[in-house]
Amino acid sequence: MAPPLESCWLYLITHFSEFQLATIGSFLIHESVFFLSGFPSIFLERSGLFSKYKIQKKSNTAEAHKKCVMRLIMYHVCVNLPVMLISYPAFRYMGLRSSLPLPNWTVIVSQILFYFILEDFVFYWGHRILHTKWLYKHVHSIHHEYATPFGLTSEYAHPAEILFLGFATIVGPALTGPHLFTLWLWMALRVLETVEVHSGYHFPWSPSNFFPLYGGSEFHDYHHRILFTKSGNYSSTFVYMDWLFGTDKGYRKLKVEEIEGKDH
Ligand SMILES: [Zn+2]
Ligand SMILES: [Zn+2]
Repeated sequence: MAPPLESCWLYLITHFSEFQLATIGSFLIHESVFFLSGFPSIFLERSGLFSKYKIQKKSNTAEAHKKCVMRLIMYHVCVNLPVMLISYPAFRYMGLRSSLPLPNWTVIVSQILFYFILEDFVFYWGHRILHTKWLYKHVHSIHHEYATPFGLTSEYAHPAEILFLGFATIVGPALTGPHLFTLWLWMALRVLETVEVHSGYHFPWSPSNFFPLYGGSEFHDYHHRILFTKSGNYSSTFVYMDWLFGTDKGYRKLKVEEIEGKDH
């Protein structure tokens, strides 16, 4: 691991306790990555910039943007922060560490790849369960309040859903007991990914143009746009779970129609 990174880490672990870093530190990193990556799509929606890359013609009102931000701040402080404080001993028990040396990149990359695959699998089934009638009506419909998603709507959900699907995010790290640095990197990448899929924009430089197994914004935007019993596209990150279990048929049909429409 690069020496400058190690010296930054040394500064952190000599000035703060592991508990402070794993709880308050994780919370602050999550807030910074989430709001910094999520606000640009509100700005684009309001200003009309890059409108040719906007997936839906419809835009959200300033009121709708504000409601989302206010609710998110409340949930982050009242749900996410207490969960981080309470779950620290469990992470510690499963082997979380913060001491030097930092793990090498092969360990970091393979652990994070494993977390993405496991998260996608658990999320897929959890999300399908949330689309059953009772749970949709009482829990998941909150996340679907925004049929035209923008970055910050990615975490806009009922507290029960935050806990339920949040399990998919932490199950990988809980099983492998990673270094805190790896945990932070995973958290940041997972936030960037979910903000991107909810952004409402599909750019020529969007990651789904370069990684064929990655669903991206078009894939998840379809999930929000279509009636909840017909939408499919339940995965968080990849496309193969929906393909394997046949829950992407409507989306695939639409894509074929789009391509044929362009040819005529
Ligand atoms: Zn859903
Ligand atoms: Zn969503």
